[in-house]
Amino acid sequence: MKPESFETNLEVGMDIAHVTQKKVAKLDWVNTIFLTSTPIAAIALSWLFFKNNGLVWSQVALAVIFYFVTGMSITGGYHRLLSHRAYKANNFVKLVYLLFGAATFQNSALKWCSDHRIHHNHVDGEKDPYNINKGFWYAHIGWIFYQEKIVDQKFPKDLTNDKLVMWQHKYYWILCVVMGFGLPTLIGYFLGSALGGFALAGLARVVFVHHCTFFINSLCHIVGTRPYTDTNTARDSAVMAVFSYGEGYHNYHHYFPTDYRNGIRWFHFDPTKWLIKTLSYVGFTNDLKMVPEKLINQAKLEMRLKNCTSNFTALGK
Ligand SMILES: [Zn+2]
Ligand SMILES: [Zn+2]
Repeated sequence: MKPESFETNLEVGMDIAHVTQKKVAKLDWVNTIFLTSTPIAAIALSWLFFKNNGLVWSQVALAVIFYFVTGMSITGGYHRLLSHRAYKANNFVKLVYLLFGAATFQNSALKWCSDHRIHHNHVDGEKDPYNINKGFWYAHIGWIFYQEKIVDQKFPKDLTNDKLVMWQHKYYWILCVVMGFGLPTLIGYFLGSALGGFALAGLARVVFVHHCTFFINSLCHIVGTRPYTDTNTARDSAVMAVFSYGEGYHNYHHYFPTDYRNGIRWFHFDPTKWLIKTLSYVGFTNDLKMVPEKLINQAKLEMRLKNCTSNFTALGK
């Protein structure tokens, strides 16, 4: 049982999306074509670039930088800042998150965060947008292939009241193309090849960031342990943390979603946590929420006790 003294943002003071939506058995052709053609185009154009130019380290470095900046705009921005309000950030940081978050082609922050709050509130259930009980592929990517029937669309108030969030939502498609493909192509051009920038930091990076963040909805609900709760499928895995910018400690996150950390120990690989903490030293972020150690230990202990009790019960049978 969750300690009563700890309030999660999903239970108290945080608006959950009032979006009544359900997936219909019709393909969303825009999403389907984009998600299936980007990996093919990424491989073909990257091969063409490497064939003509060899291994150009500046272009590879650009792609790696874009991989981290855009991916952590999702984990640090869309997820921990805007979905969970696990810390506060100034408008400059928020704007950077929104610009580079759009570059991942994962929806506007408004829509992404609404879906994510529904995921937490209805995890593993019918209303969970990426319900793992519908299988690995559905939770990973399949859910995006289907059309959504919006019955009643009311987004969370804290998000609709946020001018920057609404600005990004309004200009989402322009920002996607400009930040996701235009900017890497332009920087690639100045590094010697527009094709290199487009293929590596644009297309290939979009594909990598897609699947690394999709892993959070799929493998992070399959691979690993459940030290804090077994009432949902979310799991902790150090391996998954490497592929998800630190979001692999997902069992902890589902139990304590307001904590700005997902990996709570100093040695846990959580680059998103390190980014938020570093930004706090220069005053760009503040009010970093951390669950008291006592409550973390209590949750762990209760889980161990529960496991022991069920083992004894099984032995007694
Ligand atoms: Zn989850
Ligand atoms: Zn979350």
